[in-house]
Amino acid sequence: MKRLWLAGVAFVISGGSSLCAPRADAETIDPTFDYHSYANVDQFRVRHLELDLRVDLKDKTIAGVVALELQRLDPQATQLVLDTKDLMILGVSQKATDVLGATANAHAIWVSRPFHLQKPDPILGSALVIELTPSKKGTDVIRIDYETLPASAALQWLTPKQTARHKAFLYTQSEPIGARTWIPLQDTPQVRATYKAKVHTDWDVRAVMSAENDPKARRGGDYTFVMPQPVPSYLIALAVGDLEFQETGPRTGVYAEKSMLKAAAKEFADTESMIQANEKTFGPYRWSRYDVLVMPPSFPVGGMENPRLSFITPTIIAGDKSLVSVIAHELAHSWAGNLVGNATWRDLWLNEGFTDYMESRIMTAVYGEQRASMEAVLGLNSLRADLAKLKPADQILAIDLRGRDPDEVFSEVPYEKGRLFLNYLDVKFGRERFDAFLRGYFDHFAFKSITTEQFLAYLQENLLDRFPGIVTRDQVNAWVFDSGLPADAVLPVTTMFQPVDEARAGWLAGKLPPKKFGMDWIAQQWLYFLNNMPATLLPAQLADLDKAFAFSKTPNAEIAHSWFKLVIANNYQPGFPRLEEYLNTVGRRKLIAPLYEALLNTAAGAQVAKRVFAEARLGYHPETIKAIEAIVDPQERTSE
Ligand SMILES: [Zn+2]
Repeated sequence: MKRLWLAGVAFVISGGSSLCAPRADAETIDPTFDYHSYANVDQFRVRHLELDLRVDLKDKTIAGVVALELQRLDPQATQLVLDTKDLMILGVSQKATDVLGATANAHAIWVSRPFHLQKPDPILGSALVIELTPSKKGTDVIRIDYETLPASAALQWLTPKQTARHKAFLYTQSEPIGARTWIPLQDTPQVRATYKAKVHTDWDVRAVMSAENDPKARRGGDYTFVMPQPVPSYLIALAVGDLEFQETGPRTGVYAEKSMLKAAAKEFADTESMIQANEKTFGPYRWSRYDVLVMPPSFPVGGMENPRLSFITPTIIAGDKSLVSVIAHELAHSWAGNLVGNATWRDLWLNEGFTDYMESRIMTAVYGEQRASMEAVLGLNSLRADLAKLKPADQILAIDLRGRDPDEVFSEVPYEKGRLFLNYLDVKFGRERFDAFLRGYFDHFAFKSITTEQFLAYLQENLLDRFPGIVTRDQVNAWVFDSGLPADAVLPVTTMFQPVDEARAGWLAGKLPPKKFGMDWIAQQWLYFLNNMPATLLPAQLADLDKAFAFSKTPNAEIAHSWFKLVIANNYQPGFPRLEEYLNTVGRRKLIAPLYEALLNTAAGAQVAKRVFAEARLGYHPETIKAIEAIVDPQERTSE
């Protein structure tokens, strides 16, 4: 088998002399090196951050002060290199007690330090280089005064018109490398730090963070947060808006704008059962509370596992809990990712594959085997669709992202292929042994970030070697380092789609009227029904379906998405008004980008796409706008 990866190859960072595009030219990957950060983590490591953030919703800026408490690994180091992107650095200073070597005192004196920003890289931003003197002291405290710019990619500022309650809203989306656009820091998942934050904003809005939130905190413009567990930078998150809180259990609750609060609390009522299901198998939930923040419709992803407070798209509120697997997923990240996480973005599958596997286990425990099996098969189908489009090198779990935007790792491969790998180990070794292994893994690496190679070494010792003769290292390597799916993969199956296939075939043949099927189907079956329609349908057939099942009025955003794909593919005009409304009210990239792509297949559709996008973009996230622009206006993009 062909391997590009050589474990243990040592590279030495060159003291900051060639900081742009860090080491992208080396021939072999160093698995321990984060190619998407400038930070000199072998000389300094941030252990704690103190943030003071002034959030101006009108001017759309954050004026920030961050104090980084650093562990100094190299007494001779004279430069601290941090990640920034689109930040204005106003000043850098060092706590004087460290400079003078005197004992700490309560009233610290700050001494300014020379610094400069390196030439920006379009993906990675600018390295912030701070000059320091050598020191034998093991710690340094560096303070940076800064301001964000409108271009800060992790920040989305919504005008009052773009929210449900007509008050401005701000939220952050830091994964993978957005944290550096609102905080200068070591923006690499290798580094974990605790944090405290003070947030100042308008008196009539509420701020929440991926930290201890007090649901009873009174509004008034000033908020304080503590995150006592060490987290990587991509899990630092903030939202400010007209948020209300409703409890859903002893340690769970929902934050949302008032108009969505009740529906959200009802939809997510099973969150405590989900936590308990996971705790039973994988060990305690270690983050105290688990709350959910329902985002404005522009939120570009399904959910973001910000610790203690998952950010969740409103598109999963369907009224019947049919899409709450997203909650199971984000919750599972409290173990996979947030507790034991990827060291670099090449290792993302350690977060997402484990999480998808655990999501499936939660869904089975809370909603039963049948529903979980359907979701697993739907997941496999979207993996197959992705594999058909991806080049072989990008079908690999431990993907090579050197010189690329780490956003490109987010295909179905780390998720669904990762899940299938764990599923394979589960089946081969048996549930009891595999559960014990996973529980031990979470304990062993708790609050650490690890590489693919560290996981493989742990797997070798604690599963492969402990129960020899079941799975070989070559079989494991095929999963992690080869493209496609191994021939002996254990694929999910379900009996629940068989009646759906039969009904679809009968209806297509004109032998089965819509009244005769679907009465007891659940959302996953409807998705499967629509997703597997032939490419061409007659207008009368679509009218027949819509009349019987009211797809164009469905409150389920996923089913609507599948329906609109048929509407577009067949240019079914009666479906277009609702389609336009959908594109104007949903901002989740996964749901809208494929619809724009489909529209672009015909000249008439392209007209519609351009017209709708011109209006709808006001409600989209900047990253979503970029993605859709590339679809509707590809020339514009190449001329950039
Ligand atoms: Zn995830």
